[in-house]
Amino acid sequence: MTEDHEKIGEMLASLHIKENPYQHLPVYDYKNLQKGLNCAKCASFFFKITHLKCQCLDCGYQELVEKAIIRNVKQFRRLFPNEKLTTNRIAEWCQINPKQWIQRTLKKNFIRKPAVDLLRIKPYKKSRQSR
Ligand SMILES: [Zn+2]
Repeated sequence: MTEDHEKIGEMLASLHIKENPYQHLPVYDYKNLQKGLNCAKCASFFFKITHLKCQCLDCGYQELVEKAIIRNVKQFRRLFPNEKLTTNRIAEWCQINPKQWIQRTLKKNFIRKPAVDLLRIKPYKKSRQSR
């Protein structure tokens, strides 16, 4: 991931947000956002997804499904830093079926919180009571 890629990701994340004509505050919530994978090139949501690859039907850009999922998960994280990353949530966010694709991608590319927590716990050692 280069800095440029990050910037594109941020730009795309902002494209998920549709302006609410009744509200002038830049407030967004999950329900009102456009769901689905979007194109890394043109940000279109018009995607054809096959087994391993997905193709933008607007500009023809092809991407590995896994890469597209990771990109969209990162956008999700940026938009909702406090939301849990669950398979169901991401499947809905990316509009991808089967969910196994999401599961596999998340497992491979993102560390699960409990695993991180486990690492933090240092193995318990019996200390000699010297006092
Ligand atoms: Zn496109």
